[in-house]
Amino acid sequence: MQVADNMAVSIHYTLTNDEGEVIDSSIGSDALVYLHGKGNIISGLEQALAGKEVGEQFTVRIPAEDAYGEFMPERVQVIPRSMFEGVDHLEVGMQFHADVSSGPGVVAIVDIDGDEITIDGNHPLAGVPLTFDVEIVDIRPATSEELDHGHIHGPSCHH
Ligand code: ZN
Repeated sequence: MQVADNMAVSIHYTLTNDEGEVIDSSIGSDALVYLHGKGNIISGLEQALAGKEVGEQFTVRIPAEDAYGEFMPERVQVIPRSMFEGVDHLEVGMQFHADVSSGPGVVAIVDIDGDEITIDGNHPLAGVPLTFDVEIVDIRPATSEELDHGHIHGPSCHH
């Protein structure tokens, strides 16, 4: 059985940046299970997995544009503290859900200078090429319910 559209694919992965720092890894915890062909994972990784079989291991470096996108300077904005009405305490690193120019998203506070708050709506990994070491541990056809929902139902399911 090969990785193809509408398959539930389980992978173990280790994600590193170009400096070799580990950003994320499934090693030591449950494999990541995703529904192939539905954009559940970043497009560059999904493309690299297509056609692979259980037991295959590979390494792929994915440019930022096929991962979390290029870093967009226009998503960094300075706004007045008064925009955070009802929030007592602001500090660098705090994240908020907000409607930004590209739609609903998460913005993080990256700098505070008195009443001037700098927020960044870029994904933390925007502009970062990502290298994945991947092993495919299971492939099965998705259930009709999973296909209806567009995601996999498993032990970690949010339903
Ligand atoms: Zn569901």
